Amino acid sequence: SVPLDHGALRDQFPILATQLHGRPLAYLDNAASTQQPREVIQAVSAYHQQYHANIHRGVYELSRNATRMHDYAREVVAHFLHAAEPAECLFTRGTTESINLVAATWGRANLRPGDEIILTELEHHSNIVPWQMVCAETGACIRVIPINDDGELDLAAYHRLLCSRTRLVAVNHVSNALGTVNPVREMIVDAHAVGALALIDGAQWVAHGPTDVQALDADFYAFSGHKLYGPTGIGVLYGKRSLLEAMPPYQGGGDMIERVTFAQTSYAQIPNRFEAGTPHIAGAVGLAAAIDWLEAIGFERVAEHEQGLLKRATERLGNIRGLDIKGTARNKAGVISWVISDPPLGTLDIGMQLDLRSICIRTGHHCCQPLMDRLGVSSTARASFALYNQLAEVERLADALEEIITAVRARVVPTAPNRAAD
Ligand code: PMP
Repeated sequence: SVPLDHGALRDQFPILATQLHGRPLAYLDNAASTQQPREVIQAVSAYHQQYHANIHRGVYELSRNATRMHDYAREVVAHFLHAAEPAECLFTRGTTESINLVAATWGRANLRPGDEIILTELEHHSNIVPWQMVCAETGACIRVIPINDDGELDLAAYHRLLCSRTRLVAVNHVSNALGTVNPVREMIVDAHAVGALALIDGAQWVAHGPTDVQALDADFYAFSGHKLYGPTGIGVLYGKRSLLEAMPPYQGGGDMIERVTFAQTSYAQIPNRFEAGTPHIAGAVGLAAAIDWLEAIGFERVAEHEQGLLKRATERLGNIRGLDIKGTARNKAGVISWVISDPPLGTLDIGMQLDLRSICIRTGHHCCQPLMDRLGVSSTARASFALYNQLAEVERLADALEEIITAVRARVVPTAPNRAAD
């Protein structure tokens, strides 16, 4: 493929020109949210300025056009996920809502006392708590696949957990806290072999590699627009038609019905059945623009660039005395997590010190408290890379960490290690 013109690519992101504390912004918190290219910002803005109307029931041209834009966005998503048809792609507010939708509808309708849901020690709270809630209602229970010290799933333990009671395996494609890429294709095959379904939390994957829900044979696949160079407040739940059609609705309201009387209501076909109320039309338009933009670049170039950043970050941070990298899986996305134990330096302090140098990273438990418990820390500092990051930003991060550690070593009173407030 044609090499990336990285300067031109960065110029497409207006926010990257920001200066903070007199220094150019080094935005290394992409696992939380990516920034948006001008194409996305302009598509959303054009929608608001020229095309906005409520969709579906308008007899007038403006509403018909807005409806077409919303339909087109669903087609773009379906193509992006390689879904068999757009109707299998539901718009939601994001990964969290997508998973809650499955838990509240499929889960409530299908789980019985004694049924088991298999999660992993790597999960984000949004792929834990909805299952706990539905387990409390139905009497089903949660089993957990442990990780090894590198942050990889223990697949032998997974095989031991799988049994005739397993109804669902819900696993992230990539860990947001450690960057581990999980072998979801094999895990889905194994889940199906015992008659269970598989839900993949793709929040941290979709911006970094191609997704093919049919090749994966995923039953459900969830992601968020704001981690994919798109807007917040929009996300997707892919589900196989046969499953979605058998599921009860999620929310009741306008747009999800076929016929309403006070005595009873019949529901619309998918996808509308799961999209009650006026949707986030501008969000869908922005998400489609983001996908179009990313596909034009191509995942080969995305992966090559991001892996280069990860490799350099791993080399530089790995050479800093007193810094421990958490998560050393062989197959990782562009995420690097660490703690500084010598001198003991709380992650909140690391984050604040880096902020003074205009370097944005995330500190805390990353909504993965069970994983932090497993790692024996309350939090980590995490840098996560996107297509627009530069090697120079990785060097700046590593230089800053060396400087901070040197400064703390020179001080007499050490800073408190990993405070609870992190
Ligand atoms: N799962 C994973 C792996 C994530 O990284 C995130 C976001 N940090 C979520 C789920 C939740 O996504 P959202 O907040 O967009 O709903």
